[in-house]
Amino acid sequence: MAASPFDLRGKTALVTGANTGLGQAIAVALAQAGAGIVAVGRSAMDETQALVGQAGAPFRAVLADLSSIEPVERVVAEASEPGRVDILVNNAGIIRRADAIDFTEADWDAVMDVNLKTTFFLTQALARRMLADGRGGKVINIASLLSFQGGIRIPSYTASKSGLAGLTRLLACEWAAKGINVNAIAPGYFVTNNTEALRSDEARNAAILSRIPAGHWGEPSEIGGAAVFLASPASDYVHGIVLPVDGGWLAR
Ligand code: NAP
Repeated sequence: MAASPFDLRGKTALVTGANTGLGQAIAVALAQAGAGIVAVGRSAMDETQALVGQAGAPFRAVLADLSSIEPVERVVAEASEPGRVDILVNNAGIIRRADAIDFTEADWDAVMDVNLKTTFFLTQALARRMLADGRGGKVINIASLLSFQGGIRIPSYTASKSGLAGLTRLLACEWAAKGINVNAIAPGYFVTNNTEALRSDEARNAAILSRIPAGHWGEPSEIGGAAVFLASPASDYVHGIVLPVDGGWLAR
């Protein structure tokens, strides 16, 4: 029987922010497809370790605060120690909410640093290794509906996620012919810490829910298939896309 084009056995995936939410769900989905997981983040990864273990895949954690690029070289070195990293999922991200008119420089910088600056330099550092041995790899950026839309009260988040979509396209153009696929996933509204404030605001919750054609908030497990696709040989000719996984939100 021919191998599945979604088979990730023998591959290693580095997932940032893998301790919870979408990062955890993506790590588990990649593990279920056969990939070993290097979970990178600033919090304990025990829960993710247990879930990846249940999938029968190898797991390692690398502790790092990604609010600056200071740990980037160490992260890449530690992650690559036992063998090369084939897949990078740039998932770690934060959001700060305030009216644009009151928005502070601190909230601007904090979001841009995690969501865009560290993402770029971590990708650069890992891509240098992927290019050096000529075997290429897969980069998956976790974008947002705010890569396409404006939103309200989240100026630095919208700027960072719109920037990430542009960066995805630029890197795809530079690296497609060199064997690295760079793509993004744009999650819709998912049940995670990131959306806690929206879900606990009754009016916002109802307004959001009424606009989602699928009729429910996304569960983290509903993001995994798109990540497996973009991490696997099935997407070898896919470059520079921002793939919405949004219950139909953008189709509305
Ligand atoms: P989440 O539960 O808040 O997860 C965010 C992840 O990023 C956590 O693992 C968090 O670690 C990590 N992180 C944040 N700052 C970090 C830092 N300085 N160093 C290391 N790790 C850091 O929210 P989520 O929804 O799963 O978010 C994951 C990604 O999806 C984000 O990029 C987010 O923008 C994006 N997204 C989410 C939605 C949604 O509806 N939920 C929609 C569109 C896009 P800690 O737990 O230690 O803080």
